[in-house]
Amino acid sequence: MSGAQAFHTAVIGAGAAGMMCAARIGRAGHSVALIDHAAKIGEKIRISGGGRCNFTNRHLNGHDGSQYYVSEQPRFVRHALSRYTAADFCALLDRHGVAYHEKHRGQLFCDHSARDVIAVLQQECAVGKVSWYTETTVDAVQAAADGGFGLRTSAGMLHCRHLVIATGGLAAPAVGATPWGYELAKQFGHRIVPPQAALVPLRFEHWAECGFDALSGIALPVRIRSGHGKQAVSFDEDLLFRHKGLSGPAILQISSYWQPGDSLEIDLVPDTDVAAALCQDRRGQKIQLKTALAQICPTLPERLLAVWLAQPEFAPYAQHKWADVPHAVLQSLGHSLQRWRLLPSGSDGHKKAEATRGGVAVREIDAKTMQSKLQKNLYFIGEVMDITGWLGGYNFHWAWASAVCAAAAITNQTETVVKPSDAKEIEQLQFKA
Ligand SMILES: Cc1cc2nc3c(=O)[nH]c(=O)nc-3n(C[C@H](O)[C@H](O)[C@H](O)COP(=O)(O)OP(=O)(O)OC[C@H]3O[C@@H](n4cnc5c(N)ncnc54)[C@H](O)[C@@H]3O)c2cc1C
Repeated sequence: MSGAQAFHTAVIGAGAAGMMCAARIGRAGHSVALIDHAAKIGEKIRISGGGRCNFTNRHLNGHDGSQYYVSEQPRFVRHALSRYTAADFCALLDRHGVAYHEKHRGQLFCDHSARDVIAVLQQECAVGKVSWYTETTVDAVQAAADGGFGLRTSAGMLHCRHLVIATGGLAAPAVGATPWGYELAKQFGHRIVPPQAALVPLRFEHWAECGFDALSGIALPVRIRSGHGKQAVSFDEDLLFRHKGLSGPAILQISSYWQPGDSLEIDLVPDTDVAAALCQDRRGQKIQLKTALAQICPTLPERLLAVWLAQPEFAPYAQHKWADVPHAVLQSLGHSLQRWRLLPSGSDGHKKAEATRGGVAVREIDAKTMQSKLQKNLYFIGEVMDITGWLGGYNFHWAWASAVCAAAAITNQTETVVKPSDAKEIEQLQFKA
């Protein structure tokens, strides 16, 4: 292709996966173009984890991590996760002197700022002499006769031997998400599992009419379930009441499995048999029902108890003496708290989602190399694929691990080792994230 700038590899999308992949290919001595339509790179990393980036999870050390991923084929992630573990990413941060800590359930966060992770990736790219093309759109991609690809971009024509698609999912369009990667995949015959918002708050009809909007801000530990039979999933996590619905880790996790029309069941008092406790021998008890309920369910905030007892079924008994409340009412009250059935009317959508479920179907991608089975030298990495991690650092880890696999396949190496001279080079480089 005459007049085109030639690279060994072009990576489209300079997010978590794209930067990791480009850096490793560059460090192996190959020329790499890293192309992104945005002016600021790594924006999702910057806003992640409340500004501290939950970059991986210790549970991904030495376990079969597929249980933490949603996909048509969750087992697809096994090879990549065994090849690149949480400890490997921690070792990278250690080499760059980035401090981090574990919050809970194995979740690892930066001590200082998510920008530290961006800086690490930028420095790795600099050591690999990656050529940056920011604010650059790719208007057309064509398979070239030599087995590579021709790219028509806003910065001119590019030619590459290997093409890596790392354009992510649809979550958070405000920081650059687009469906471009899906369109490119379709161009080469790939099937797209319909993308849906995941790790996203859910909404409910008649929320305000039931008085639940008044509970906005309340958080409490719950057990949440959805689905039936083999499809059933359950999480023990915190629930957060919002003005328009529910959020918090419990809802975000279940949202990655929820399908429109499915109901949710929430146990607001996990590990207590509230109905049995309410129906115990109450003879001689002088306290009111609401007092008894507060004693039996100490994790339930007062405001929530008040709204619950204001429901037409229970309101007539709220001020009654506990001993006088009929057995059937107490049973129904207990069950209502532990089998709270809700039918979400929808989610907050991609704007408020932290991830996208669906994407490029993994059946047509090689799990060891991330190479397309339909088009030689074309690779997909990160969230653009039909791989969605649980809350807790699993999505970033998929970005790192899939990027490392693709880079290794492209460079034909099994490992990229940081040499002492590289460490010195890293020290000399000054970047602002
Ligand atoms: C608010 C929020 C918080 C999150 N917190 C966490 C967390 O703490 N832990 C965790 O594991 N995950 C978290 N995630 C999810 C995580 O950010 C993603 O899973 C991860 O960034 C995916 O990496 P990626 O490289 O595949 O895609 P991205 O990081 O999204 O990168 C894609 C890149 O492609 C570029 N791009 C898109 N379209 C085009 C185009 N047409 N042309 C050129 N470039 C394009 C984008 O500008 C972007 O730079 C969070 C997500 C959000 C939205």
